[in-house]
Amino acid sequence: MAIREILQLGNPDLYDISGEIEKDELDLMRDIVTDLADTMFAFREKYGAGRAIAAPQIGVRKRMVYMNTGEPVVLLNPEITKKSIEMMEVWDDCMSFPDLLVRVRRHRSITVSYRDLEWKEMELVAENDLAELLQHEIDHLDGILAMMRALDEHSFVTRSERWRVKDS
Ligand SMILES: [Zn+2]
Repeated sequence: MAIREILQLGNPDLYDISGEIEKDELDLMRDIVTDLADTMFAFREKYGAGRAIAAPQIGVRKRMVYMNTGEPVVLLNPEITKKSIEMMEVWDDCMSFPDLLVRVRRHRSITVSYRDLEWKEMELVAENDLAELLQHEIDHLDGILAMMRALDEHSFVTRSERWRVKDS
């Protein structure tokens, strides 16, 4: 187990597209999951936030997301298969730029298909917070950061100024 460095905004590796995971890489992925969990919980201790982390954020260019909003969920090769027409606007945060929030538009609900660590095909339906979280993390696998989805040039606020800004 190891706490890894989280790549920070400006690191060109964050813009890379991550590769599909093959079944014979599962053992390797299990080790990386431990690192993802340790890294995320260390971040959470420091910042009081952080519910999911994508493998490329610790420099592993593989399509894997670790999420823990009460219990751990590992998503291998996640793919959004359905998106609601209804959208929502949210302030997005990210462990790769912990002091900045970005106003983005996301689908209100999505369906995600993925494989678990037993290589079983899984599907989950996510709404609101969870839908936003998963859209954010899956973006990381495609090298997309929240600022690339900013609504306009005023869609940025530092965490300390966040309370001054109205939600809509
Ligand atoms: Zn992020």
